[in-house]
Amino acid sequence: MSKKGIYWFTTDLRLDDNPALKMAAEAMDQLLFVYSVDIPVRLSHLQVGPSISKNRQDFLLASLNCLNEQLQQLGQHLIVIENTQSEMAQLIDEHGITHIYRNSDHHILDSADWLKIQANYPQINYSEASNNRLFRSEQFPFDLSELPDSFSKFRRKAEKIQIDSPLSSPNHLPPPITNPMPWSMQPSRATETQTLFKGGELEGVRHMETYFQSDLPSTYKQTRNGLDGMDYSTKFSPWLAQGCLSARRIIHRLNQYEDEVVSNDSTYWIYFELLWREYFQWYAQKHGEQMIAFSGIKDRSPNTSFYPERFQKWCQGTTPYPIVNACMRQLKATGYMSNRGRQLVASCFVHELSLDWRYGAAYMEQQLVDFDLGSNWGNWQYLAGVGADPRGHRQFDLNKQTQIYDPKQHFINRWQGHTDNFPLDSTDPSDWPIDLKRTEILA
Ligand code: FAD
Repeated sequence: MSKKGIYWFTTDLRLDDNPALKMAAEAMDQLLFVYSVDIPVRLSHLQVGPSISKNRQDFLLASLNCLNEQLQQLGQHLIVIENTQSEMAQLIDEHGITHIYRNSDHHILDSADWLKIQANYPQINYSEASNNRLFRSEQFPFDLSELPDSFSKFRRKAEKIQIDSPLSSPNHLPPPITNPMPWSMQPSRATETQTLFKGGELEGVRHMETYFQSDLPSTYKQTRNGLDGMDYSTKFSPWLAQGCLSARRIIHRLNQYEDEVVSNDSTYWIYFELLWREYFQWYAQKHGEQMIAFSGIKDRSPNTSFYPERFQKWCQGTTPYPIVNACMRQLKATGYMSNRGRQLVASCFVHELSLDWRYGAAYMEQQLVDFDLGSNWGNWQYLAGVGADPRGHRQFDLNKQTQIYDPKQHFINRWQGHTDNFPLDSTDPSDWPIDLKRTEILA
């Protein structure tokens, strides 16, 4: 019997170093390549807005177009579906699919469709392989249930593990089952957004090469806390998030740089940050639905709530904190924010504004071109004091941080962080108590 497979792309939009795709390409007689744009809206009851921002959508569309073109060069094409359940079922039934392959690095919160299809079609063979991580679970000297509860403990163990060499792209693919349906959806540019990153494997590889052909890796540790510009950090994250770049490929290229150019604290620190990413991938897998729980992985909830006006001001960049406003405006315009900025706006959200951290995480999920479930929700938990932070409380002094990282306020001015939108909460007759006199009477 002829083996007819589906390769189901998720956050692995590339041909390079794609073990699951390699398995499918080697074993199948005919193959369909499918991607679903049916993106889950996390915490939809929080009503943060549309599921993904224009910037994130454009990056995804460019990545899909690039992938489609790469597949076409190998006699294949990409089928993009919008309703996972019904359209997958149609493809399976119409073409007598016998096998389905997929990247195994997806979170339980994003697995509902995968599990439903497996339940509805038990006769199909399902295979997965890890495409997006540095390590395989068998390489750890511990079970996932015993994943260290802090990054430092994880790092000490992980640093001893040899990372697999990346696989090369396939030279040929099994033929398609159907004739190509021309697919192309070009990103449409909205005037209020600024594009920093173009999606797709080819752009990702070009960016990585340009980075490692420059001197930037040798000074990364000194520059990595910058707030604005392309050069202070690697900017690998958007391509990593969609899987246009393989983390193993980056490490391989980093090692080459260390052999050929220089190996120093900065080059180590790029590896160190990629270990943070790795930690949050395993952490998210271990903690499953607790990733989006108010109490995170702890057994007590933070003492915060939801104030719609404060939340709006934070999103729009009209709080009383210029550095936070500048970062939030940068995020809205570009879909990107520096790591330092993300820490400051999250700290402000939880501590100055006393807001429920999940709304902040959901808003960033919608906006960020590099959104990644483990890194976003894991970092938010950390800053909200409900995650993997042994210190349990992290509040940044926003004035001090401004003096250190934006002493001349270039960044704040560029992104119009100064607003005269005081006070934080507008006075409302239903507020209680509204002034000191009234407080004294009631006391
Ligand atoms: P670099 O500084 O050049 O680091 C290299 C790579 O290491 C990054 O591309 C990333 O893959 C990884 N990395 C660096 N710092 C971290 C970190 N703290 N946690 C996990 N991985 C890290 N990163 C995402 O990729 N997606 C997210 O959705 C995301 N949300 C975040 C939310 C908050 C509140 C915070 C504080 C951090 C978040 N980060 C997220 C981590 C970090 O801010 C970004 O990875 C980084 O800013 C991306 O820019 P870069 O590629 O130039 O990073």
